[in-house]
Amino acid sequence: MKCLECGYESELSQRIITCPKCGGIMEIKVKIPSNFNFSMLRGRGVWRYRDAIPGNYNKTVSISEGGTPLVSSSFSSYLFYKFEGANPTGSFKDRGMTIAISSALSEGYKVVVAASTGNTAASAAAYAARGKMRIYLVLPSGKVALGKLAQSILYGATILEVNGSFDVAMSTVLRLYKELGVVYPLNSFNPWRLEGQKTIAYEIAEEIGVPDNVVVPVGNAGNVYAIWKGFVELMEAGVTSKIPKMIGVQAEGASPIARAIQKGESIPEFVDSPETVATAIRIGKPVNWKKAIKAIVESRGNALTVSDNEILEAQKKLARLEGLGAEPASAASLAGYQKAIEKGILGKDEKTVLILTGHALKDPDAMLKSDARRILVNPDHVDKIILGELDASS
Ligand SMILES: *Cc1c(COP(=O)(O)O)cnc(C)c1O
Ligand SMILES: [Zn+2]
Repeated sequence: MKCLECGYESELSQRIITCPKCGGIMEIKVKIPSNFNFSMLRGRGVWRYRDAIPGNYNKTVSISEGGTPLVSSSFSSYLFYKFEGANPTGSFKDRGMTIAISSALSEGYKVVVAASTGNTAASAAAYAARGKMRIYLVLPSGKVALGKLAQSILYGATILEVNGSFDVAMSTVLRLYKELGVVYPLNSFNPWRLEGQKTIAYEIAEEIGVPDNVVVPVGNAGNVYAIWKGFVELMEAGVTSKIPKMIGVQAEGASPIARAIQKGESIPEFVDSPETVATAIRIGKPVNWKKAIKAIVESRGNALTVSDNEILEAQKKLARLEGLGAEPASAASLAGYQKAIEKGILGKDEKTVLILTGHALKDPDAMLKSDARRILVNPDHVDKIILGELDASS
């Protein structure tokens, strides 16, 4: 393990979450076995890749996360969607949570805590319930999408609502973790979570080989790094022979990383009051910014911003052309893909995977923003309306 801030190096330890010297973000270096071979693996989902996941797990908490569908596009044979909405709680967060909660239990923790814009909360609540652990969620009051809040309530978490943005909730959790050693933090500054999330790369590589590009919505910026890390490990082991370009997409009102990349700067300017309809990426001060910039730069990728309008249009397009229901943050990847093609950053004939990070059901208020044909009718007139329309269109 190595600190990205001060360079401190340590042996692998599930006790280590942030740097013991300076509190910085840690990287976990993984060398997968030289005889690693997809055809030898067993089972499905995250734990199928157990040989590539570091750590000792004398207890595992799994709800069959991962193994999500890779859906081919109906309008381009070069385009695929990794539908993470098919995870047990409806987002990719479950991939990291199975590893983090299993680590916490294996290390003897009984209490877990997480700040969240919603999906981490829903996932953490489910896995803590399954692991019989006590969980406290720190949420920005009034800023969590309805489906995610409802899930956290259903799974029985204790919810602590704070005034302010997600970034305030996150710094509260960081402080809690550093001051009270007894609580285990489930946010993505915890590098163990990313070890689960990297299996997105393993699944894509196993199913269709390594694509040219992977497009990822970026919030706290752990996932874009985790997916890149997975591809790097496979290549270093000689299982694959290239790494895809990592394309990060942020919402205009919350885009510190995309703007830094575009300006060629290595340190982002944080955003004080981030705003976007895509609540899962409404983050002004991404904890994993260093990891994300590393992944994007080293993969020779890029980053883009998209407007809320472009996000909602992309959400509708996914639903109405592809039959895929994705929450707004996830639709940002399609909006970003379209923009990247317009700008000549990506080619239409390059094999590209869009990560659809979460399910549309997470955010019913966003779905209701789509234009609807809802007509109040007298039941006796239904046939007349339909026949009238069929006539008019023939
Ligand atoms: C968490 C989340 C993201 C952002 O992922 P990061 O790792 O924080 O960049 C994007 N979309 C959805 C649906 C999420 O839940
Ligand atoms: Zn350090």
